[in-house]
Amino acid sequence: MEASGFLHKMHGVLESGQVRYQLNLDEPLILNTYLGKRLSLQVTGKKQCVSCARVINKTFQQGHCYPCVISKAACDLCIVRPERCHFHLGTCREPEWGQKHCMQSHIVYLANASGLKVGITRKENIPSRFIDQGAVQALPLFEVSSRYHSGLIEILLAQYLSDKTNWRKMLQGVPQLLDLKKEAVEIKNLIAPQLEKLVQQHQIICTELNAPVIDLDFPVLTYPTKIASYHLDRNILIEDELLGIKGQYLIFAQAVLNVRSFAGYEVLIL
Ligand SMILES: [Zn+2]
Repeated sequence: MEASGFLHKMHGVLESGQVRYQLNLDEPLILNTYLGKRLSLQVTGKKQCVSCARVINKTFQQGHCYPCVISKAACDLCIVRPERCHFHLGTCREPEWGQKHCMQSHIVYLANASGLKVGITRKENIPSRFIDQGAVQALPLFEVSSRYHSGLIEILLAQYLSDKTNWRKMLQGVPQLLDLKKEAVEIKNLIAPQLEKLVQQHQIICTELNAPVIDLDFPVLTYPTKIASYHLDRNILIEDELLGIKGQYLIFAQAVLNVRSFAGYEVLIL
């Protein structure tokens, strides 16, 4: 056996433009070294909350137990809808956590994973956020002082741009490359009057960034033409050739596995 442990999201780092993925089980596995090889992944049936490590029968929201889902700030609705941040109302589920994760510098960015989209992220999550989304290009646009403010600006941009990734398209190839600098100029011109109003209304300190475009090259040998998915409740033993890794997906010859969806599942890698 090579490794065992509870699944967590894959950890991607960018090394001179190339994405290197690591899976942290009882020992760290560099997943790139498995490319082109047959990998066996067996589910033991045990599950553990990724937050509190409680033994559970069913995971919620990417690996959490139910008590964590209803009490952790990281599981609150405002994490997927940052414009609904309620820290300023004094109702954050975990104000200390919120202070550290939400009341910090955030970036509004453009990315190209399955086409042009807008997104936000904590400044220190660059470039891991782009890696998690399978973006091949990204360009930071604005920096603001909180998650809430970044969410308000994202809403403005989302009137004109998608704020979602089409994961099937993302997994089926490299999207047409875009001139993100040019897209940025266009979108900034488009929202300028509304942004000025928003900044005044919410007293946002918004810094326009002049950052370089970040290019990301994912370790993929072959892209699938048709997407089938492995599901670890049904596929308790996967024995398949690993053809690529992109976003939070392992691309096998026969189907893809969204690793993050099965966080908290105990697995053996053979
Ligand atoms: Zn828990």
